[in-house]
Amino acid sequence: MGLENWLRFQRRLGAKGAPRPKKPALPPAPASERPTLAEIRQELGDCQRCKLARGRTHIVFGEGSPQARLMFLGEGPGEEEDLQGRPFVGPAGQLLNNLLHKLGLRREEVYIANVVKCRPPRNRDPEPDEVAACLPFLLKQIDSIQPLVIVTLGRPATQNLLKTEAPLGKIRGIWQKYKNIKVMPTFHPSYLLRSPRERHKTWEDMQQVMEYLAAHETD
Ligand code: SF4
Repeated sequence: MGLENWLRFQRRLGAKGAPRPKKPALPPAPASERPTLAEIRQELGDCQRCKLARGRTHIVFGEGSPQARLMFLGEGPGEEEDLQGRPFVGPAGQLLNNLLHKLGLRREEVYIANVVKCRPPRNRDPEPDEVAACLPFLLKQIDSIQPLVIVTLGRPATQNLLKTEAPLGKIRGIWQKYKNIKVMPTFHPSYLLRSPRERHKTWEDMQQVMEYLAAHETD
């Protein structure tokens, strides 16, 4: 009896722990059928879908190339981002800019976004109801851009995108997958500002990302 038949047989018996076959990830819809970033922004409108709307100055939709091969994902806007309506423009953004510069990348050629688009009070983590309201728009942005790699910055971004409760310390620097897109979890720049001795780990994570991108130059 082959392995797959054996697993099917076990499931028929009601055996616990026999894993179901994974559904193959559906290929992305052709570009012409995917909504553009402008259409997604229009659909978001003057969003009041969660309580974060009450305290915001600006919606921080995300910015960068609509054809980016590399996307960075944080958890939510901070004070400066809320004021300017742009992601990663405060001190953490400066560190991200430095990292991009050292890697030979420009901000305009990557895409930068957050799990929630309005600033959580006192920069707390986004709450589950806020993530539930906002994440669908981020997922549409990802579907529209179809990056080769998403780098998740910090625990909330990593856990919310990957739908995992695994601690960041367990999966940081280890390739993950969202649909057909490779995901590299790493530290949030805010954390690296507080813990500069950890910066080399994010640098090493980014070396993996750059190697992957280089190996898929023509994809
Ligand atoms: S965080 Fe997202 S869902 Fe909530 S109000 Fe802002 S844009 Fe809308």
